[in-house]
Amino acid sequence: MTVSITAPSTRDRRPAALGGAPAFPDGLPLVRPALPDTPALARRLEAILASGQLTNGPTVRELEETAADYLGVRHVVAVASCTSGLMLVLQACGPHGPVVLPSFTFSASAHVVHWAGGTPVFADIDPASLTIDPRDAAARLPHASALLATHLYGTPCAVEDLQDVADTAGVPLVYDAAHALGSRRRGRLVGGYGTAEVFSLSPTKVVVAGEGGLVATNDDAVAGACRIGRDYGNPGDYDCRFPGLNARMSELHAAVALASLEALDARVAHRNALVDRFKSVTAGLPGLAFPAVDDGDTSTYKDLTLLLDPPAFGLTPAQLAAALRAEGIDSRRYYSPPVHRQKAYAGLGPEPLPVTDRVAEQVLTPPLWSHMDEGQIEAVAGAVVACHRRAGEVRGALG
Ligand SMILES: *Cc1c(COP(=O)(O)O)cnc(C)c1O
Repeated sequence: MTVSITAPSTRDRRPAALGGAPAFPDGLPLVRPALPDTPALARRLEAILASGQLTNGPTVRELEETAADYLGVRHVVAVASCTSGLMLVLQACGPHGPVVLPSFTFSASAHVVHWAGGTPVFADIDPASLTIDPRDAAARLPHASALLATHLYGTPCAVEDLQDVADTAGVPLVYDAAHALGSRRRGRLVGGYGTAEVFSLSPTKVVVAGEGGLVATNDDAVAGACRIGRDYGNPGDYDCRFPGLNARMSELHAAVALASLEALDARVAHRNALVDRFKSVTAGLPGLAFPAVDDGDTSTYKDLTLLLDPPAFGLTPAQLAAALRAEGIDSRRYYSPPVHRQKAYAGLGPEPLPVTDRVAEQVLTPPLWSHMDEGQIEAVAGAVVACHRRAGEVRGALG
């Protein structure tokens, strides 16, 4: 007779918070950047160093052309970060007044409004997609000079409705697309919507440069202003047309970004498969839901964010985070507190944002990265299931 030794099933697993063996004794970080083929990249970096041209060179141009081809847009301008790219775009669009944007986003979305000379006006989000609610945005737009929307976690916004709302108000629509390089709205890549879309290549994103950003636009004037603006506002004759930034991307960063762009669609597909696996392992758990991605759309799943209803799930997001930490599993509360609750924006006064405030109480983001394997995501999902099943004891053990 053969005895097969199998791992304890999810059902019987004792959570590490209750003394069980941790799912990841060596720890599972929130993200690990995907950098394919390091030797080829190292050779490319060596060649750049040997050339002596570390900025304003052919690698940045190659990245811009490659990204513009991939996205199907007229212009891509590589910049030092998504934050600086958004500052330059807003400056180019000239919104020196109120800018309507979601509070349920990363803080940089609001900071860029300030740096471009505007004032953030926060709008609420759609309770299903968690992206900006077009109707609430419309209600706040009459006195505003621009609309700034975030493709949150990679979920494409309701771009058609937002364009209608922006056109009706007569204001430019700009996208913080930090999470969405590789996302698709009804099959079409995000990047060509609105006046401009700005991607981030910082290390927690799906495509990485180390640090960097990409401005994508079909608007010649906006592209031109960003090209000059990333170079202090100097078009080359040292007679600056406006006060710009140093927001250039270096050749070294562009080489990393080019390597990271390779096989992006396959990586996005793998991330979606991992999310499907997570959802099937946790299917039917009471009090656990996920942000909705419209049928026919593709999210990069920059983040896999869970929505917990504590009375039904048995644990608050903070309690589940602590229980996962005992398993060696890292997590974040993307995005809590929402921007309008952060100290930096306390001076704007309280805005009623009921959906944002409710959702911010529910979010927890466990690890997801592009080269994670199915066993790892199953173990994360299994830990969530185990913590739910013994939620009462876990709550007691956490004190
Ligand atoms: C990361 C991020 C940014 C900032 O990107 P950087 O490249 O780090 O400047 C802006 N908006 C959102 C939504 C982000 O997640």
